[in-house]
Amino acid sequence: MSEETIFTQIVAGEIPSHTVYEDETTYAFLDVNPLAPGHTLVIPKEPYERLNDMPTDLIGDVFETTGQIAEAVENAVDAPATTIAINNGEAAGQEVPHVHVHIVPQFEDGTAKPIHTLFDGVDLADDELAQIAEAIRSNQ
Ligand code: AMP
Repeated sequence: MSEETIFTQIVAGEIPSHTVYEDETTYAFLDVNPLAPGHTLVIPKEPYERLNDMPTDLIGDVFETTGQIAEAVENAVDAPATTIAINNGEAAGQEVPHVHVHIVPQFEDGTAKPIHTLFDGVDLADDELAQIAEAIRSNQ
């Protein structure tokens, strides 16, 4: 776990934020550089760097808060849907080394983009998929 991050400073009130939710283990606030109106970040209060590092009960807490806040965000900005995403590690574009779930509202105004637009995609044969699935099963 990292000692302190910009997000632990937000939780501690040392850096201002537009807080929308707080409970014992989780915290949610507006992204300072929003991708859409209502773009919100949900974090565990403890500064785990990646989702993989977190205890499962805390992952549960973060996703419980995410579901609850996604509903509130959609209602608040009148969005029919949200994209919910985690940049899980530096190579995935994670800038702040403290797990955060992005809740980004999407609108029916022609600007909505599915997450598949982020990737070029790959062609994998069925035996390659089977091999990858086996590798994932044996790495648990
Ligand atoms: P990521 O690239 O997934 O690590 O996203 C980090 C997010 O944190 C970005 O969307 C930033 O705009 C956001 N961010 C950074 N500093 C702050 C801050 N002080 N308050 C709110 N959001 C922040």
